Amino acid sequence: MALIECRNLTHVYLKGTPLEAVALQDVTLSVEAGEFVGIIGPTGSGKSTLIQHFNALLRPTGGALRVSGIDLANPRADVKTLRQQVGLVFQYPEHQLFEETVYDDVAYGPRNLRLNEDEVGERVVESLALVGVDPNRFGRRSPFSLSGGEMRRVAIAGVLAMRPRVLVLDEPAAGLDPKGKEEILGQIRALHQAQGLTVLLVTHSMDEAAQLVRRLVVLARGRVVMDGPVREIFRRAQDLAALGLGIPAIAELMLRLRGSGLQVSPDTLTVDEARAAIREALRWN
Ligand code: ADP
Repeated sequence: MALIECRNLTHVYLKGTPLEAVALQDVTLSVEAGEFVGIIGPTGSGKSTLIQHFNALLRPTGGALRVSGIDLANPRADVKTLRQQVGLVFQYPEHQLFEETVYDDVAYGPRNLRLNEDEVGERVVESLALVGVDPNRFGRRSPFSLSGGEMRRVAIAGVLAMRPRVLVLDEPAAGLDPKGKEEILGQIRALHQAQGLTVLLVTHSMDEAAQLVRRLVVLARGRVVMDGPVREIFRRAQDLAALGLGIPAIAELMLRLRGSGLQVSPDTLTVDEARAAIREALRWN
């Protein structure tokens, strides 16, 4: 069975009021364990509404949703178990840091699980290491004394300390400088590759999507309008443009080169691939 299974998932905010808004309509989607899926779409297309269903912050107003075997259309679903399995990292998660030390902040979730302090300590050390923060150097510091990128990594460690099977991230690199961005994205990639974590990533950055994910789901007006391998999606530059979405900078460059007559492969998403495609087109091999 798929880890996440939505069938005709619909969500209507403020149903029956003058402010009623249909945020998701007939979303059918399944995600298997171990996948790395990007979710893109214009502002207001339903991305954040969708991901909040995956850990039951929102419930379907129509259709079916099962996450990790738990039926979320059932009002009596076991939400506590679900929230241990699905970690949701909001935009700017560092705004939710609040404890006096980095250690205590990461320990907050495991302590709520009533684990003993040795187990809590194990989880804190393990999750800080996963995001590249040295527990010995940083554990006793105030989270508010860290850099923006470090704070964000500590906040993500707090979610990882619950040992989730699925990590859902909303714009994890937003607002960081290029180095902070690269570090955080590298760590997310490593979590997927080394820990086998299933990752869902909402992003506005097509470059980020091209570098990280294998599959892309495109939302528009609350519906899934494209779903497939990242390369196939980025071949549809015109369809994406019609939704107000771009393609990765490298793919855009390749399109322009083709427009000026250089027969480079259109299926090019990374700098290395672009180098090879240009050499090939110029017959430099
Ligand atoms: P995205 O994350 O893609 O920007 P959202 O899921 O935030 O999209 O929003 C989808 C639609 O639902 C939008 O039309 C938005 O105005 C509406 N919406 C989002 N949150 C609420 C809310 N709490 N109450 C009413 N309408 C909302």
